[in-house]
Formats: sequence, structure tokens, C-alpha cells
Amino acid sequence: MSPKKPPMTRTRIVRDLIAVCRRLDEHAFVAATDGNVSTRLPNGHILITRAGVPKGRVGPEDLVEVTPEGKALRGAASASTELGLHLFIYRERQDVGAVVHAHPVFATGFAAARIPLDADLFPEAIVGFGTIPLAEYATPSTPEVANSIRPFVRDVDAILLANHGVVTFGGDLNGAYLRMEKVEQIAQTTFVTRFLGGGVPLSAAEREKLQAAAGVTTSVPSQHKPSTSTQKR
Ligand SMILES: [Zn+2]
Repeated sequence: MSPKKPPMTRTRIVRDLIAVCRRLDEHAFVAATDGNVSTRLPNGHILITRAGVPKGRVGPEDLVEVTPEGKALRGAASASTELGLHLFIYRERQDVGAVVHAHPVFATGFAAARIPLDADLFPEAIVGFGTIPLAEYATPSTPEVANSIRPFVRDVDAILLANHGVVTFGGDLNGAYLRMEKVEQIAQTTFVTRFLGGGVPLSAAEREKLQAAAGVTTSVPSQHKPSTSTQKR
């Protein structure tokens, strides 16, 4: 008998969401009350962290259930101020089950320097991301943020937000979180590489070989095409 995956009960989803908040805090991907995490619920609603809570201290009472249109259903507190960004991603990407937004230092540094992370230096980045584009600057907590990622949201699963931070998404909470961890590691390694005088990008042939070895036909996860509208400098 093959082992069965336990059903995603609300209790388990809440536990997973809180675990992601703790990991963001432990890795210092957020400071003070920064960052927000959300996931889809089996009923089609979205569960998201409330505004103004340190991620290391999130408890079940700090999660707010909203409809896909953003109407709050459970939780007396108000939802994260970046709720609009999360809802936009769920609307645009039916395959996305969780969204993580944070301000990891190196990746946010690249975002403030307005440098997208071209992942042609590292094998796991080529296979996992393709490129990590940079969205135009948008005032945090306004509808401008969702609008800024519009050119990229269908093609990639991680986006730098200019002068602000990073948003990653995935099929589930763990997948969205791990992508944030990878983005920050790519940013750190790219920083060191640039400090040492610049890296040597892998050639197209080497990238193709990598993708063939990994069993993928494109350079980004899922069926999405790599973005062609990345801002470069
Ligand atoms: Zn933010």
C-alpha cells in the first residue's frame, strides 16, 4: 500500500503558514513587522497574515480569511496592507497556492540598485528560475504594487520589487518560501561574484545541457515562459 498524503486540513494549513512566518524571521528576511504570507484555502478563500504583526510571533489569531475579492471573513484584525498584491497573483495564476513577500537584505539591495538577477551564473538558478525580473517602483501597500508586477506575473515565480523587496509564489507554502530562500542566496552569491570582478555566464549550450539533465525544457518552473521584458542595466 502506498503511503497517502495527509489531507490539507485548515489546522495543517495554519500550521504551515505560521512555520513559513517563523522561517522568514529566523533567516532575517524581514524586520519588525515587515513581510506577509498567504495561501489558498480548500474553500477558494485566501488566508493571509494580518497587518502589523512581527513574523516571528504570528499565531493562528493573526491570520485573516478573505474572499478572492478581498472581503474579510474571519479574524477581527485587518489583513496585510499588501493584500492587493497577493490577490492579484492568485487571480493571474490559478496554479499558485501560496505567496510570500519579504525584504531579504541582498535581494532587496539589488532591487534598490535596480539590478534584476540574471540567473545565468548558477546551475540551480538556471533550472529553477531563468531570470528574476525587476518590477518598476511602486508605493508599498498601494494598488500600484500589483500593477508593477503585471508584465512578469504569468512568466516567473519570483520578482524583485524596486526599492522595496521580493515577492515569490509557488504551488504551496513550502514551495513559495523555498523560492524566497533561493532568491536571497542567488543575490548573495551574485553580489560576491560582482565584488570579485564579475562572473562568467554559462553558455547557451551549457544551459541547454543543464536543462536536459534536469528534465526541463524551459529555464523556469512550471509551464511558464521566461520573461523577455526584464529591465537590464
Ligand atoms: Zn514590503
